[in-house]
Amino acid sequence: PPVTIAIDGPSGSGKSSVSKAVARELGLTYLDTGAMFRALALWCVREGIDLADQDAVEQASRTFPLEMGTDPAAPAVHLAGADVGPDIRTQEVSAVVSRVATNLGVRAVLRELQRDLIRQARETGPGIVVEGRDITTVIAPDAEVRVLLTASEEARLARRAKELYDTADAQALAATHDLVVRRDQDDATVSAFFEPADGVVGIDTSSLTFAQSVAAVLDVARS
Ligand code: C5P
Repeated sequence: PPVTIAIDGPSGSGKSSVSKAVARELGLTYLDTGAMFRALALWCVREGIDLADQDAVEQASRTFPLEMGTDPAAPAVHLAGADVGPDIRTQEVSAVVSRVATNLGVRAVLRELQRDLIRQARETGPGIVVEGRDITTVIAPDAEVRVLLTASEEARLARRAKELYDTADAQALAATHDLVVRRDQDDATVSAFFEPADGVVGIDTSSLTFAQSVAAVLDVARS
């Protein structure tokens, strides 16, 4: 029978890399829901849509030409046929994505898109790993496997700083602080991803290596 593995967590919890590795290991497809919010934010910026105009942004979420790839080896994101993978991960997009993601109208629209992609994956294959902030609670509360990856603020900042600046020195940590902590605070106003909900397995990755984090999720999936 098909399986959905739902993985939530804050920024820097290791969610994306762990989710992709788990999908590859189990031969499942993969959906990065954060990439959908990022692509919408990028689309609004490019189209000159005022992010403060809630109705305009919600309207854009209904019509923007998004195509999500679900291959964990190469999870492509396209807007109007063009690959925007790198463009959605710039600091410029990271700085504004929460404004789009805290729009409840937008969340309702993307929720349906996400559920459609999950349904398709379950109908056509062995299943899917879905990562985000509200997958275990809102998008797929009935998923067979539900995991919340957490990590101390210190560990999350250090990981992001190394990703962005190749170092976790004081300057890099300070520059990363706003991108991680402030974004999580904003995102936490609409999703609960700091504490596992009922039936969700919490895994603290603060002192785990990448391989150990993957193994911990695989343990839950196989149990
Ligand atoms: O996971 P990632 O950091 O790429 O997510 C980008 C943004 O998308 C988050 O900061 C959050 O605003 C939004 N998001 C969300 N719900 C999800 C996934 C992401 O609100 N399920």
